[in-house]
Amino acid sequence: MPIYEYECRRCGGDFEKLLFPSESEEEVACPCCGAKDVRRRISCASTLTGGGKSLCGGSGATRFS
Ligand SMILES: [Zn+2]
Repeated sequence: MPIYEYECRRCGGDFEKLLFPSESEEEVACPCCGAKDVRRRISCASTLTGGGKSLCGGSGATRFS
């Protein structure tokens, strides 16, 4: 299951999204402001590792609450 990293163009926040096959990218909305004006980023965290950590050791602050 791919995890994509998105950047919100409205509030500038970035978040990660687990994209299920049944979901289309147009449905991806920013968890902060709800805007769908998001852009997918090239990320090194596109695959899940054992502990769910990203290989790049990113902030990890983009967890859903
Ligand atoms: Zn936003």
